Amino acid sequence: MENLHHIVVVGGGAGGLELVTSLGNKLGKRNKARISLVDAGLTHVWKPLLHEVASGSLDASANEINYRAHARKHHYEFQLGRMNGLDRAAKEIIIAPFLDEEGHEVVPERRIQYDTLVIAVGSTANDFGTPGAQDHCLFLDSLRQARRFHNLMLNAFLRKNHEANQGKPHTLNISIIGAGATGVELAAELRLASRELPVYGMNHLQSSDVSISVIEAADRILPALPGRLSAAATRELERQKVKVLTGQPVSEVRENSLVMKDGTELPSEMTIWAAGIKAPPFLAELGGLETNRSNQLLVTQTLETTRDTDIFAFGDCAACPQPDSDHPVPPRAQAAHQQADALFKTLCNRLEGKNPVAFVYNDHGSLINFSRYTTVGNLMGNLSGRSMYIEGKVARLFYVSLYRMHQVALHGFLRTGIIWLMDKISRAMHPRLKLH
Ligand SMILES: Cc1cc2nc3c(=O)[nH]c(=O)nc-3n(C[C@H](O)[C@H](O)[C@H](O)COP(=O)(O)OP(=O)(O)OC[C@H]3O[C@@H](n4cnc5c(N)ncnc54)[C@H](O)[C@@H]3O)c2cc1C
Repeated sequence: MENLHHIVVVGGGAGGLELVTSLGNKLGKRNKARISLVDAGLTHVWKPLLHEVASGSLDASANEINYRAHARKHHYEFQLGRMNGLDRAAKEIIIAPFLDEEGHEVVPERRIQYDTLVIAVGSTANDFGTPGAQDHCLFLDSLRQARRFHNLMLNAFLRKNHEANQGKPHTLNISIIGAGATGVELAAELRLASRELPVYGMNHLQSSDVSISVIEAADRILPALPGRLSAAATRELERQKVKVLTGQPVSEVRENSLVMKDGTELPSEMTIWAAGIKAPPFLAELGGLETNRSNQLLVTQTLETTRDTDIFAFGDCAACPQPDSDHPVPPRAQAAHQQADALFKTLCNRLEGKNPVAFVYNDHGSLINFSRYTTVGNLMGNLSGRSMYIEGKVARLFYVSLYRMHQVALHGFLRTGIIWLMDKISRAMHPRLKLH
């Protein structure tokens, strides 16, 4: 064990967990390398589910994977901890002291030696320094934040239901800043919650008492996606009585309102920031590795960092060039999934002295899910390169398949089939919304 090549993957998210699973199954199991995963949390939930956890239409605990249990099954080691430094000369990563919920130190700062290091620590919301955003916005970067959002939302509904019962004004204003896929999908989820909660006992409140606004600085929602998709999504949001405000940058967030660039003030008791992402700030000063303005580590097409061939990075935290494009690979689960696959081959090749695999992103299209209402999207033709517009049940099927592919990568086909069946049973047994 001592002399085995040690591959350390930091970040067990959409990409990192898939990578350690394949490496563990292939190399760890046969004692060809020692595989370790380091993550700041004890469990994994696929990040694109977080807005459903926040609204309550998904119970996270049923979709949570415990790293320790998963590691045991897939022949890798798990280390709980938050990486905050790197000593490239000693080939060691530095893990911050681990504190309990009361702030008491459980484990002091420690170092983990590596032969090959892979950084896959994802991204966090980018508030672009907007005054008040950190103090008054909710974010959806982690399971903890999604759960906090859910609790705050239930309390806000409870308060408004009570006020309605007392004959007081009781409109609940919710604003989502940023109309990318996350903001748009969250709006639809919240509209569903506003329709369901009165059914479960908050019957003084009506869905129309919950005002949901999606606010976008660009001149259309889903600015990164084709115009047709954006038009279809706008129609769908308006059908669900979600206000769509475009071309309206937010210049300040206050406790119960938003100040727009033109000076107008909009009431907002719950404000969610979903505009833009950046990689975790600690990467910007990590052992002299090269980063861009969003703190993303610069990597070559083989996902090697530009200044150290023993360190790789991928997923949201890496800026990977694309041939024939000025833009790096987009920060999406789809990209992290494909990169995990390419990097798995590269790391296996490395042990055998073979060449790394060049990563080419294959955009399969984009799908926007409007909770249980509908799904719209475009699928890319592999050969023609043209996109095909789809909506409704077919689109929903493709949308769900992205998560199922992630589950297959983590559990294999058989277990994914069983999980799918259990999901169906669970949905039939439980309320349509998580109520606690
Ligand atoms: C609400 C929401 C909806 C989305 N919907 C879609 C979608 O429909 N389709 C799509 O393609 N993409 C979607 N995305 C984007 C997608 O989730 C990300 O692109 C994807 O998760 C990136 O994968 P990753 O492995 O790079 O990082 P992540 O999945 O974010 O994982 C990062 C991991 O690193 C760990 N970590 C972070 N910092 C440290 C540290 N210092 N030390 C140790 N561990 C650390 C974290 O705990 C986490 O486990 C959505 C994102 C959000 C927030």
